[in-house]
Amino acid sequence: MPEQPGFSTRAIHAGQEPDPATGSVITPIYATSTYIQDGVGGTRTGGYEYSRSANPTRTALEECMAALEGGSRGFAFASGLAAEDTLLRSICEPGSHVVLPHDAYGGTFRLLDKVHRRWGIVADPAPISDLAAVERAIRPGETTAVWIETPTNPLLAIADIAAIADLAHAAGALVVVDNTFATPYLQQPLALGADVVLHSTTKYCGGHSDVVGGALVVDDEEIAEKLKFHQNAIGAVAGPFDAWLVLRGLKTLAVRMERHSDNAEQVAAFLAGHSAVREVFFPGLDSHPGHDLAKRQMRRYGGMVSFRVTGGEQHALDVCAATKVITLGESLGGVESLIEHPGKMTHASVVGTALEVPGDLIRLSVGIEDADDLLADLDQALAG
Ligand SMILES: *Cc1c(COP(=O)(O)O)cnc(C)c1O
Repeated sequence: MPEQPGFSTRAIHAGQEPDPATGSVITPIYATSTYIQDGVGGTRTGGYEYSRSANPTRTALEECMAALEGGSRGFAFASGLAAEDTLLRSICEPGSHVVLPHDAYGGTFRLLDKVHRRWGIVADPAPISDLAAVERAIRPGETTAVWIETPTNPLLAIADIAAIADLAHAAGALVVVDNTFATPYLQQPLALGADVVLHSTTKYCGGHSDVVGGALVVDDEEIAEKLKFHQNAIGAVAGPFDAWLVLRGLKTLAVRMERHSDNAEQVAAFLAGHSAVREVFFPGLDSHPGHDLAKRQMRRYGGMVSFRVTGGEQHALDVCAATKVITLGESLGGVESLIEHPGKMTHASVVGTALEVPGDLIRLSVGIEDADDLLADLDQALAG
């Protein structure tokens, strides 16, 4: 590879030298649990001994993710939540305080509130795009981590990663950025001062709605060693086939994100001009409160668009049921467009909490189909 390879060169080649045994250009799926050892307790062939600890297909993915995020070490997990759980167990202890976005991914809130709270970890929701509120939420010496999602899910608020990193570091806290929505192609949190980057690779990194996975990337050896220990000790690792699917997805990440961004810009502009739409949440719109920050911090604005319809919750549910090209379903980040009702679907677990979202809200994961077909589909669904 060239000395400073570009993003797509890294996506296609980092960690993915042709297989030394066969010359296979594509990293094989090493479907093996164990590896021959040269002698009892002696040196091992290739350094592998058991696939929970390390597997060559997973290593390729981990090196590729690290290269894309500009970090030194990557770790791949069975799901985004498995990555989060391993991270929390690696950096927190009873009494640890975590600041997280008040509209965080529902599963992240549930993991902290329903699982880790029982072990003495306190999660404090704060509006992460409001710097003064983040500063108030941080408890110097007590806050272990400030958790950032940007853009947030489902309201697409933008948080200032560099400014929050300054606040958090001054108070002795780590900064974790869930970069699932933006991907490393659109946003590079480590370069902005974050300590840990988290992905649900289920979404854009995999990109084809055919795998569930997670990843962590860091640039600090001390945190990396803690993660390495806990990844092996807990064992929530990505299997070789899953790792291979994510690796394949990563190769086209840049071209997919360009097209997702193109299509989402068209969809957001269309919705903003539609009489049945009250409000559109998309950082690419000039009217979005985080637009200027997003412009500085991101390469483009990504494929997620949320909007509120006139006519309340029932109208939102009707629109979700009426699209034909756009599939009704949870998840996001695949080549196909998806529509969902956060209040009753992805964010149902936060109803009645500070994280509750409006009932007339709809979230779109704008896919890479032909934009005209998506606009026509939304038009007929909103008219129905
Ligand atoms: C999906 C998602 C997660 C959780 O990942 P899984 O792979 O479903 O476990 C975490 N954060 C964000 C922003 C997500 O969209």
